[in-house]
Amino acid sequence: MVYNEDDYLLLSGIQHFAFCRRQWALIHIEQKWEENLRTVEGSILHERAHNEKLSEKRGGVITTRGMAIKSSVLGVSGSCDIIEFHEDPNGIKIFGRRGKFIPLPVEYKRGHAKGSDADRLQLCAQAICLEEMLVCNIERGCLFYGETKRREEVIFTEELRASVHKMMAEMHAYFNRRYTPKVKTGSFCKACSLQDVCLPKLCNGKTVESYIKGRLEETI
Ligand code: SF4
Repeated sequence: MVYNEDDYLLLSGIQHFAFCRRQWALIHIEQKWEENLRTVEGSILHERAHNEKLSEKRGGVITTRGMAIKSSVLGVSGSCDIIEFHEDPNGIKIFGRRGKFIPLPVEYKRGHAKGSDADRLQLCAQAICLEEMLVCNIERGCLFYGETKRREEVIFTEELRASVHKMMAEMHAYFNRRYTPKVKTGSFCKACSLQDVCLPKLCNGKTVESYIKGRLEETI
């Protein structure tokens, strides 16, 4: 199946979806957004990655910043913080450049490496877009973490790729139904920028109506 461009979702949404499906729906379906320290720090890092020179070559590596990407198979569009094209005889040709190159997507993140797969899924989705656009195979990419200032290599295994396809299909299904899942709280809520919008304590396991009814009964 391929998606029509009108139905493309934002690629970066996959990290929200992996973190909490309700958070993704609040941001991408209901268009609610709250900034906290984490999102502000994240934006600053991304601005730095995007604002420098668009393309430069050092040694055998061409570095491109803020390249727009898309995939009709995943039905997404977005951009890559950085793509490094490493000279390699097994790579692809690039217009206006001599030699062949293998693309390496690099995504900037605040903080340090997390236990969840959210960042790896986003990076793998970027690689799937690049493979479709450049007609090539990309085996690996890197996540750069602002706190540790280190790169973590990510191998795009069949398992990780399958998870990206499955999650994107789920996102499209939710979006088509304009479905916002109910609250399922966890310790991860502490890091959520939408706590005040989501109202986890109010909604968890209750409808707003039953909550108000309960509060009214308490006051009678
Ligand atoms: S507060 Fe918790 S349940 Fe609500 S959107 Fe955020 S992470 Fe999800």
